[in-house]
Amino acid sequence: MSVRVRFAPSPTGYLHVGAARTALFNFMFAKHFAGTFILRSDDTDEARSTEEFQVDILEHMRWLGLDWGEGLEVGGPHGTYRQSDRYERYWAVALSLVDSGHAYYSFATADQLEAFKQEARANGTSPAYDGTLEPERAEVSRRMLDGDGPVIRFRVPRPGSTEFTDLVRDEMVFDHVQVDDFVIMRSNNTPTYHLASTVDDVDFGITHVIRGEDLLSSTPKHILITEAMGAERATYGHLSLLMGPDGKKLSKRHGDTALSAYREAGFLPDAMNNYLALLGWSPGEDETLVALDDMISRFDGTSISRNPAVFDPVKLEWMNGVYIREMSDDAFVAVARPLIEADLGRELEVDEVSDLAALAPAIKERTKLLAEIPDQARFLFVAPETYDDKAWSKVMETPEAPVALGAAVEVLESLAEWTTTAIDGALRSMLETNGLSAGKGFQPIRVAISGSTVSPPLFESIEVLGLDETLKRIERARSLLL
Ligand code: GLU
Repeated sequence: MSVRVRFAPSPTGYLHVGAARTALFNFMFAKHFAGTFILRSDDTDEARSTEEFQVDILEHMRWLGLDWGEGLEVGGPHGTYRQSDRYERYWAVALSLVDSGHAYYSFATADQLEAFKQEARANGTSPAYDGTLEPERAEVSRRMLDGDGPVIRFRVPRPGSTEFTDLVRDEMVFDHVQVDDFVIMRSNNTPTYHLASTVDDVDFGITHVIRGEDLLSSTPKHILITEAMGAERATYGHLSLLMGPDGKKLSKRHGDTALSAYREAGFLPDAMNNYLALLGWSPGEDETLVALDDMISRFDGTSISRNPAVFDPVKLEWMNGVYIREMSDDAFVAVARPLIEADLGRELEVDEVSDLAALAPAIKERTKLLAEIPDQARFLFVAPETYDDKAWSKVMETPEAPVALGAAVEVLESLAEWTTTAIDGALRSMLETNGLSAGKGFQPIRVAISGSTVSPPLFESIEVLGLDETLKRIERARSLLL
């Protein structure tokens, strides 16, 4: 049996980090078993589904590298993989379920259902609607002729129960006393999620349904429909929901939840995947940094935790910093260059790209988010015209600043070789000669060359800037002090 799994987001919102984690788990599972990862659109909620959300979902799936072998855009044997294109099929199944007695027309109103619930509560019985109000056939025909639109409900067999072994939560038992005779087709002729999702899973030959725990109580319904269709049930796995660091359900209150926000803030897809994979799964003994291919070889759907997983942006940022530091200098320049060019509003010259590459190790060391790169690198390409106010008053308006700047010019000018080590040695002995601390002596130089007290390491920066440019910048700052 070849594994077939699906990710089935509803395009009613941007791709959420929790959904991305569900997609990733499905992707890894499919790859591990050399199966097929399918992307489908659960777009039956016409009022809330938009093309913009659909585009966002696809774009960010691709950004993460979670490529699907079948489904939206890439196609496959099952049409467009959009539920909105499959209404005829859902109708056919609903009608055949009515024919086979597994489903029935229902006119029960919201008031009647509410009264049923209240009575059940008063009697101490289950409030799950059990079909008590099912109309006779003759009544169905009469009311349909009168233009009354019925819904179609699934007839849940009672007494009975649905049991399954969940990939994550092991043995699950749902007593049908707790399961409503649920609606599969609405009176406006649209299928419900339960019907559309199950018919698709059956038709597309889905072997494993891996999805969020919020859908756990839907699963007995889906198994009932599947079996009523005469099909074989899939294996189900329900992933625990994501929490914020405060232990509450992850929401906007905790910060960004849309993947696009993380992409824009400068997270790397590799770091994102690595972090999301750890939310409820452990690749092995205390290991945290694991590349996707390596995770795939270990991810077989076992050892997924049922405990809620905490999505902690601080940890994610730390991990992103690690991934940035581990990039090769070439790879770093490739991602940094467009960001810097956008910041400068012009393209970098060839020698500027070499400067960037020369300073790459130092910048990587201090960067947690790609979006921080332009601030770190800007000084390489533009001499400061203005200086950070706070830095100026704190660092430059001191009696030591003119001494340090003047002495720095002298020692740098007379350097025999232009290397980080030589610059380091010369400036340190300049401190000693003038009785200056590193703070008092080096900070003015840093502000002079970069405009602020935050920049990559001083000696590397000076080396890459070159003697002429460094002296020019120090002299300019000096002149403003006089
Ligand atoms: N469309 C559902 C959602 O976006 C998921 C359906 C499923 O995985 O069964 O929550």
